[in-house]
Amino acid sequence: MKISINKAHFPVTVLGPGRRIGIWVQGCSIGCKGCVSQDTWGVDPGRDMSVVQLLSWCRETCGGKLDGVTITGGEPFDQPQALAALLAGLAQWRRSVKLDFDILCYSGYTLAALQKKHAPLLAQLDALIPEPFVQTRPLTHVWRGSSNQPLLPLSELGRQRYATQVDALAQVSDKRMQTMVDGNRVWYVGIPARGDMAALEASCAERGLAFSQVSWRP
Ligand code: SF4
Repeated sequence: MKISINKAHFPVTVLGPGRRIGIWVQGCSIGCKGCVSQDTWGVDPGRDMSVVQLLSWCRETCGGKLDGVTITGGEPFDQPQALAALLAGLAQWRRSVKLDFDILCYSGYTLAALQKKHAPLLAQLDALIPEPFVQTRPLTHVWRGSSNQPLLPLSELGRQRYATQVDALAQVSDKRMQTMVDGNRVWYVGIPARGDMAALEASCAERGLAFSQVSWRP
């Protein structure tokens, strides 16, 4: 089974509790206005990899010391068969080595649509952040981009890990972004507040660092 991947990283500390594996799938058919991850929208067969290979990378990269896996994108539910294979592989890994990492998944589809079309996949998750990003709604809560997006614990582990965060407000002082450098590309991971990316771009430009291409504009 192949899965189309934009990137994967460990440790991610801004998309869920603790030190996590972050997996960004490639391809999103939703197209929320103001999405900061527009580089993940296009379907790109050149980004396909096998789920087995991705699971091997997960096992090797974290050395068994992780708190969770966050699956985001892109739109994970646009690849339902690949997502099913990934979730089955993660569950098998978790069981076989008795790890207790949780699995959090983002989706731009509504909860009602996911429950109708993908109930078996939801049953494999510990927590879900559904609903499209709405630029006109403020960033109010931790790990969510706009105030319409709920955090839903879906399992016992999910309730243990996430119950206290469901209504937790995002503080100005919260760490919301991480930076990764890969050659001459820089990745910003996390949930920026409104205007953060434009402010970053302006601040870098003042120091003579111009971005040739950014993911938060077409
Ligand atoms: S916010 Fe998520 S669902 Fe919306 S367009 Fe961006 S990647 Fe797709």
